Amino acid sequence: MDVRYPVKGMYVWLPYGFEIRQRVVEKLRRKLRETGHEEVLFPTLIPETQLKKESEHIAGFEDEVYWVTHGGLKELDEKLALRPTSETAIYPMFALWIRSHADLPLKIFQVVNTFRYETKHTRPLIRMREITTFKEAHTAHATEEEAEEQVKEAVEIYSSFFDELGIPYIASVRPEWDKFPGAEYTVAFDTLMPDGRTLQIGTVHMLGQNFAKTFEVTYETEEGDQEYVYMTCYGISDRVVASMIAIHGDERGLVLPPDVAPYQVVVVPILKKGVRRKILERAVEVEEMLREEEVRVKVDDRDMSPGRKFHYWELKGVPLRIELGARELKEGTAVVFRRDELDRETYAFEELPEVVPDLMEEIAMRLRKRAREKFENGIFRTDSPEEARRLVGKGIVETGWCGSKRCGMRMEEEFGGDVLGTPYPEEDTEFERCPICGETAEYTVRIAKTY
Ligand code: ZN
Repeated sequence: MDVRYPVKGMYVWLPYGFEIRQRVVEKLRRKLRETGHEEVLFPTLIPETQLKKESEHIAGFEDEVYWVTHGGLKELDEKLALRPTSETAIYPMFALWIRSHADLPLKIFQVVNTFRYETKHTRPLIRMREITTFKEAHTAHATEEEAEEQVKEAVEIYSSFFDELGIPYIASVRPEWDKFPGAEYTVAFDTLMPDGRTLQIGTVHMLGQNFAKTFEVTYETEEGDQEYVYMTCYGISDRVVASMIAIHGDERGLVLPPDVAPYQVVVVPILKKGVRRKILERAVEVEEMLREEEVRVKVDDRDMSPGRKFHYWELKGVPLRIELGARELKEGTAVVFRRDELDRETYAFEELPEVVPDLMEEIAMRLRKRAREKFENGIFRTDSPEEARRLVGKGIVETGWCGSKRCGMRMEEEFGGDVLGTPYPEEDTEFERCPICGETAEYTVRIAKTY
C-alpha cells in the first residue's frame, strides 16, 4: 500500500497488493456462494434516523461516524452517515423483502468499504479510517435454532478460510462488555502477531430478534401469524491480509501462500554471453510448461542483475523461483528456490510440471504447520495471577473465571491485557478457581494484549 495518501488512516492499494487482496476476497466469496449466500451491494450512505434507530447499536459507534451534511452548497435536510457497518442499511430492506416463511432463510453478503473515525493510532490494514474490504454477511431465519446453526456454519466457513491461508486462530465468545453493539453474543477469531499481541481477524454475531424488532423484520408463519425473524451477521476485514503478511513473513519480506500469490513461480534467466538466446528460450519454455499446469508464472527478463531480481521477488514473497543459467541449460536441469525455507534444489528440466505443483502444496502445508506451532507456543495456561501478569503480552493467557464482569475487569487491569472471552464451542474448564475472587471457575477465560 502507498501510505502517502493525504487523508489520515486511508491508504492506496498498489497493483501487487491489490491482486493479493482480490485472491483473498475470491477465496471467501467462493465459500460464501457454495454455502448459499448471495452477493448484493448496498449504498454507502445511511440516513441519520435509520442509523440511530437501534439505540444500543448506535451507542457503540456514535463517536466514530463520518457524516455527509451537504449536497453541493446546500445543507441536507437529513444528515447521511458513511456506513460504519451495514446493519442499519440492510435490515430496513430485509423488512421489505421478507414476507413469508418461504422467503427464509435469507443469506446475503457484500464486499464493501466502511468508515470509522478512529482516534487510536491508525496503521495500514490494521486500523484504518476507511476499511476497504469488509466482507460482510447477513442472514435472517424463522427460528432461533436455525440462527444458531447459522452461527456454527459461519464459524466453519471462516475456520476453513483461515486454514487455507495458513493463519492460526482461536475462536472465543467475547465477554458481554465487548460484544457487537446490539448483538446477543459475538464469536470472534483472534490470531497472534509476532510481537505477542492478538489481532481480531473475524467476527460472527448472533443478533437474535433485536434488530428484527427495531426494523420490523417479520414473516408470516405457516399458521398465518406474524413473527419476528432471527438474524446473524459476520464479517472479515483487511486484517486478514495483515495477519497473513505478519505471520508468514520474515526479515527478507513477504512469504505468500501459493494460493493467493499473484505469481507462484518467477523464472530468472542467468544470462551468459554466447548462450543468451538459448537461455531465454528455455525460460519461455518453462513458462509455457507451467502455464499448462495452471501455475501463475512470470519470466523476469528485465535488464537487471540476477541477484537484484532474487531480492526483488523474495521481498514480494513469490513461493518458488526457478533459476536457469548456462550450466542448467547444458545439463538439462533447473534450480528451484523455495521462499519459505530459503533453499535450492536442482531438478531435471522435464520434471518441472510435476515438481512445481507438488512443491506449492508442500509450501502451503508447511506454512500452515509452522504458523500453527508458533501459535500453540504462544498460548499459556495458568491459575496463578502472578504468572498471568507475567505472560500477558507474550501471548494468550488462559485461566479460570467465575464469570462475573467485576472479576473480568479486574483481570484486564491487573494482568494488563484485554479479555478475549471464553472458548467457542463451549468446553468444560480445566481450572478450579477464579484467580481474582477464589470462587469456583465456571469458564476458561482468555486474556491478551490486543491490537
Ligand atoms: Zn471471580
